[in-house]
Amino acid sequence: MRKKIVAGNWKMNTTFQEGIDLAIEINNLVVEKAHKEVIVVVAPPFTHISEVNKAVDNDRIFVAGQNCATENSGAYTGEVSAEMLWSAGADFVILGHSERRSYYGETNEKLKVKVTKALEFNLTPIYCVGEVLEEREANKHFEVIKEQIESVLFDLAEADFEKVVIAYEPVWAIGTGKTASPEQAQEIHKYIRTLLTSKFGDAAKKTSILYGGSCKPSNAKELFANADVDGGLIGGAALSANDFLAIINAF
Ligand code: PEP
Repeated sequence: MRKKIVAGNWKMNTTFQEGIDLAIEINNLVVEKAHKEVIVVVAPPFTHISEVNKAVDNDRIFVAGQNCATENSGAYTGEVSAEMLWSAGADFVILGHSERRSYYGETNEKLKVKVTKALEFNLTPIYCVGEVLEEREANKHFEVIKEQIESVLFDLAEADFEKVVIAYEPVWAIGTGKTASPEQAQEIHKYIRTLLTSKFGDAAKKTSILYGGSCKPSNAKELFANADVDGGLIGGAALSANDFLAIINAF
């Protein structure tokens, strides 16, 4: 059975205290009411990670970074390494989010290094891929996703590949209120799995592929019902504990 995962990306939201309060609220709801088979992840800002990790039940909620550096340590002002995330209590790290790709120039080449760093320090990478609107309209989405997957993941050893989680996030659906239809999501998720199978064989059957892009309580059920959709990477709706719980329970 593939792991079902719902991960909340808080992005650059919440002050320290607001973040801790949100983590406690999510924790209380998840511990009491969430479906047990779903792995729950929250990705607060870096400054909150250690304290959020202490505030939640570590058997039930895992903490993620939203990015990590390509280097381990040294003169890289403003950067946070995979080892630092791990030492603060993170178990996951989101890599290649479209906001990182478009605002901070993250290339597939850099992301390949970041995925390796995450794995080296025992973090599970949630590697994001997805096309922008112009690429979809030009029918180039398969090509773009193929390049994002092949260039970043295809040199991994199988044992490392098995630890990677993938998030398909059509950029045109992120924060826009426009969600991919369940058919569009399944089509791409299946394509990603086929691509992964061509390189890693049966190991790809176990890869969790999450959907992200305006996923909310009202559409999560129909998205998660698809054979190759193994959960969600949630932005806006992850900032409401009740909405986040409803999405987790949409399985
Ligand atoms: C995201 O940023 O990963 C995301 C899916 O955002 P939203 O749910 O707000 O579209």
